[in-house]
Amino acid sequence: MWHKRFSHVYLEEGVEKYPMTRVILDRLSNSKLVTVKNYKDVFARSGQNFQLQKRSPKLILARKKDHLIYEGSMASQDFGYRNFYYNSLLLNCVYNCDYCYLQGMYPSGNMVVFVNEDDFYRATAKAIDYRPFPQEPLYLCISYDTDLLAYESVVPYTSRFIEFTREHEDLVIEIRTKSANWRALEEIVPCDRAILAWTLSPPEVASAYEQLTPSPEQRIQAIKQCLDRGWPVRLCFDPVLRIDNWEKIYISFFKEVFKHLPAEKIRDVSLGVFRMNPDYFKRIKKQRTDSDILYYPFESSPSFVSYPAEERSQMIEKLKDALTKYVPAETIETWT
Ligand code: SF4
Repeated sequence: MWHKRFSHVYLEEGVEKYPMTRVILDRLSNSKLVTVKNYKDVFARSGQNFQLQKRSPKLILARKKDHLIYEGSMASQDFGYRNFYYNSLLLNCVYNCDYCYLQGMYPSGNMVVFVNEDDFYRATAKAIDYRPFPQEPLYLCISYDTDLLAYESVVPYTSRFIEFTREHEDLVIEIRTKSANWRALEEIVPCDRAILAWTLSPPEVASAYEQLTPSPEQRIQAIKQCLDRGWPVRLCFDPVLRIDNWEKIYISFFKEVFKHLPAEKIRDVSLGVFRMNPDYFKRIKKQRTDSDILYYPFESSPSFVSYPAEERSQMIEKLKDALTKYVPAETIETWT
C-alpha cells in the first residue's frame, strides 16, 4: 500500500549515485520524479501545513551531511544503557498519530529518506569505537523520528541495519514500530542484539488517535510471529493517554495482550505517559483543534508538557502494578 502513497519523489542533486536511491525508485516506479538542489528547499519551506501535506505526502531523497548519530534524549528511556544514541535515517512517518511530536518538530508533513547509508554505518562504527563507557555496548535507536519497519517494503533500512548490527558485537539496536510488517523480517535470521520494540495501545486509543496504523490485534499477531522465531521483543505501552476510564481500559488491554503473547518471552516493557517538548506542543496546538487529547489541562515545565505530576505518578503506579501480574517488575522501565 505504501508504494502507491507517494505521487511525487523529490531527488536532491547528487543522490542518484547511491544504491539506496536505485532500490527506492525501483519500488516507486509510478511516482513522478522532481530534482531539487537541496532537500530543505522542499522540506524546510516556511508556511507549510503539516496535516494538509499528510493527506498526500511527497517523498524526498536526500543526503545527510552531518549529525549522522545523536546522543539520546532525556525524554526517552535508555533501559540502563549508558552509551545511548539514536539516528535519523528517515524524517517523518507513514502513520499519523494525534499525539506525535513530529507534527511540531518538522515544518513539513512530507517524508525524507537519507540515502547515504554507508555514512551512517561509518558514523556508527566510529561511535562504537569512541563510546564513553567502553565496557558496555553502544545502544542505538534506529527508528526514532519515524517508523522504519512500517516502510521497509520501500526503504529496506531495518533489514540492512540488522545485518550491520550482527557484524558489530558491541552494538545493540532498538527498532521501534507500530507496524504489523513481520513478513519483512521473515527471511532474516533473528539477532539477539536487534530489539524489536512494539508500541501497543488499547483499541480505544488506536482507533481514535493512531491514524493509518495497523490495529492492536494485527500488531499482537506480528509480535507473536517474531517471538516464535526467536527475536528479542520489547513491548511499549507508551504514551499512555489519560482518556475516560483509562485505568480499566489499559488493564483489560494488558490482559488481552498477555492472553496472546507468552509473557516469559518478552524481553522487557516500556511504560510511559504522554509527554512532549513544550515548543513542539505549542506549535501543534496552533495547527490542530480537532484532537481532544491535545486539550487536556496539562502541566508545563521547561523540558516537557505532560499530565500533572500527581496524575502521572498515579497512572504509572497503577499500570505498573497491573503489568507485574505478567512480567517481573525489574523488566519494566517507566517514564513519569
Ligand atoms: S508511529 Fe510514532 S512516529 Fe509514527 S506518527 Fe505515530 S507516534 Fe509518530
